[in-house]
Amino acid sequence: MAPQVADPAAPHGLLNAKQQHLLDQLQEASEELTGQDLHARLRGTPHGMGLATVYRHLRHLQQRGLVRCRHLPSGEALFAPTERDEHHLTCVDCGSTVVLRSCPMHETHLNPQQLGGYQLLFHTLEFFGLCPGCQERQGSA
Ligand SMILES: [Zn+2]
Ligand SMILES: [Zn+2]
Repeated sequence: MAPQVADPAAPHGLLNAKQQHLLDQLQEASEELTGQDLHARLRGTPHGMGLATVYRHLRHLQQRGLVRCRHLPSGEALFAPTERDEHHLTCVDCGSTVVLRSCPMHETHLNPQQLGGYQLLFHTLEFFGLCPGCQERQGSA
C-alpha cells in the first residue's frame, strides 16, 4: 500500500477568481514572473487588475503555499508556482541566472522533531556565485 500523501491541489477550491487567474498565468509561463509582468499580461483582458491588487493576491497565494517568491540581487521579486520544484544559481555581479536541472533537496526530508508540528508546504533554495563572464572581467581588471 502506498502511503497517503496530502493532495497539494486541494486548496485551489478556496481561491477567488482573480487569485486563480494569477495562479493560471504563473503556471502557464515557462519562467518566473514579476508582479509587473502579471499586471501587463492581464491588462486589456477581462481579468485586468491594478498592480496593488496583483501584489495583494500574490501574497494570499504565498500564504496558501501555492506561490513562492525570490528576490534577485537587484531587489526585483520573481514569482513562480511552488509545484514547479525549480532552483537557481544566480551571479551576484551581473544577475544572470541558471536554472538547475534537478532539485538537490529532493531526497531531503525534515524529521518530525525539526518540523515541530508544522505542515510542510514547499521549500526554496538558492545558490549564488560569480558567472564565468564576471570572473573573467574581474580577473583582467
Ligand atoms: Zn555575472
Ligand atoms: Zn527543490
